[in-house]
Amino acid sequence: MAKIGMIGLGAMGGPMARNLLKSNHSVKVYDTVAEHIDALVVQGASCATFSSVADDVEVVITMLPNGEVVSDVLLGEDGLLNRASKGTLFIDSSTIDVETAKALTKQAHDAGMVMIDAPVSGGIPGAQAGTLTFMVGAAEREFAKAKPILGSMGKSIIHAGASGTGQAAKACNNMMLGISMIAVSEAFLLGQKLGLDPKKLLEIVSVSSGNCWAVTGCNPVPGLTPGAPANNDYKATFTSILMLKDLKLSQNAARCVGASTLMGAAATEIYEQFVDGGNGHLDFSGIIKKIESASTGT
Ligand code: NAD
Repeated sequence: MAKIGMIGLGAMGGPMARNLLKSNHSVKVYDTVAEHIDALVVQGASCATFSSVADDVEVVITMLPNGEVVSDVLLGEDGLLNRASKGTLFIDSSTIDVETAKALTKQAHDAGMVMIDAPVSGGIPGAQAGTLTFMVGAAEREFAKAKPILGSMGKSIIHAGASGTGQAAKACNNMMLGISMIAVSEAFLLGQKLGLDPKKLLEIVSVSSGNCWAVTGCNPVPGLTPGAPANNDYKATFTSILMLKDLKLSQNAARCVGASTLMGAAATEIYEQFVDGGNGHLDFSGIIKKIESASTGT
């Protein structure tokens, strides 16, 4: 079993750390919020400070809000790349931009350490159940070393390619998800206006070519899919703020490489308006409310 330091114990990192403990890894935890540390210590983790979290561990996992925070933790004043032992494996599972992920990997390498990007899909339910999908940007040997540890927190551990490709996969996946949630919302609202029972439309689409996760996994129409946030007033499992963050990352990545993402750009604008309208805390499937409110009465 590995000795692991874990930084960032929020909605995702907390349950991920719990699953590491369940797999009998030795886990030191650190977060800027003391209660988040305490909740893990009760379950068997050891309490660390920022300056001690990377001492005497083989692996450091970060699950932090964004690329600036990850860079600060690694490179800032007292940053971990200055203090961890040579050979330490850093696994960043936060969602950050591709360029920062690649730059940090290079800086870790220059400091005699290893850093890989391993963002996740599956949200809070997947983090709790230990069924996350990890998309990993790493050299082959580093992927092989990380895989059993990631396997304690996830079900599908996929090697995407070299450094940065894990974050590239995450940006592509979530751009598709944002676009498809808007498309499904539009189609189900159109169907209703055309006199179709949404339950019938679900039955038909789920075995037809329009099917996708936004139809059968998390339908935005209340009462159609079990456990969907739509059935609970759009109480978030994945907030619209996080969807907007990921769409913006996809658009920055597209600009960097000159890719055309017309639907991605449109989805970003639609979610931006929704978040600016005070709905950022709602689940991203709540976007159907915005589309519905833009419909005319005829
Ligand atoms: P969160 O805000 O719940 O947790 C972030 C944690 O990091 C908090 O506990 C915060 O106190 C801590 N933190 C912030 N700055 C810190 C610092 N300098 N040092 C130590 N701890 C610090 O966020 P989350 O929902 O757990 O998301 C974490 C990452 O996972 C994000 O990059 C997000 O985009 C990604 N993600 C989230 C979801 C989701 O459904 N919530 C799904 C997939 C990916």
